[in-house]
Amino acid sequence: IYQLSPQRLIGFETLARWINPHQGLLAPFAFIPLAEETGLIFEIDQFIIQQAVDAIGKWTKNFPEIPLFVSANASGASFKNPEFLSFIENTIQKASLVSRGFVLELTEGILIENLEITKTKLDRMQEFGIKIALDDFGPGYSSLKYVNQLPIDYIKIDKTFIDQLFLSEKNSRMVRSIINMADDLGLGIVAEGVESEDQLHWLAKSPTVKGQGYFFSRPVPWAEAEGLLEDTRAFETLL
Ligand code: C2E
Ligand code: CA
Ligand code: CA
Repeated sequence: IYQLSPQRLIGFETLARWINPHQGLLAPFAFIPLAEETGLIFEIDQFIIQQAVDAIGKWTKNFPEIPLFVSANASGASFKNPEFLSFIENTIQKASLVSRGFVLELTEGILIENLEITKTKLDRMQEFGIKIALDDFGPGYSSLKYVNQLPIDYIKIDKTFIDQLFLSEKNSRMVRSIINMADDLGLGIVAEGVESEDQLHWLAKSPTVKGQGYFFSRPVPWAEAEGLLEDTRAFETLL
């Protein structure tokens, strides 16, 4: 995840992959829905969140001059699990994260349960320093309601909106309106699925917008993510 102007690495999203002994490397669409059906998703989400938090701890030590956050996703089933809140609390406390952020990405589908319960959980998470991002913002009909009623820190503008940015004047105006709204409400903004220089330039006109996508990097294994941090360090010492 990059700041757009000047371009600078500011964070990572943790994305699950499964190296299946028979089928090789599998993308989330090939196993997350099944994991949700079977209930295994809670363990997977906990494992990935733990890795994200560990990475923050390690990088805080190794790259103290690069302020960055690491986000991870939670499925509805995980978020609704009664043990999820205490898991998050324990994980963050054990890691004693001080300056850097852990961001939890939630889709609106998750939040549909009881709004009061959801709000209580999110308030609690924010009390111990976690930031909340509303993932895939835009296409769902209730995104606005959640932004209004829940303690959200960031919105992640859905990739379909960025894909269609130049398809019509109306599309780009719509994204412009989302950005203006988020600015007015003091929400952070990440545009997802940035693939082209044109998209980058258009988005970079708004100083508050951050970007994520193949234009910057494909998803990479942990070791390569560290390589990106080394590059950032090398580049910044040149300045
Ligand atoms: P998401 O949270 O919307 O994640 C972004 C997806 O868009 C990722 O796909 C990422 O690789 C892809 N992406 C990012 N930039 C670009 C781009 O410029 N172009 C294109 N074509 N794609 C881009 P991925 O890794 O396949 O993940 C798919 C979905 O699986 C994620 O969507 C997320 O909802 C879910 N997921 C991934 N890891 C986890 C996890 O640990 N737990 C849970 N519950 N869900 C996960
Ligand atoms: Ca996400
Ligand atoms: Ca997303």
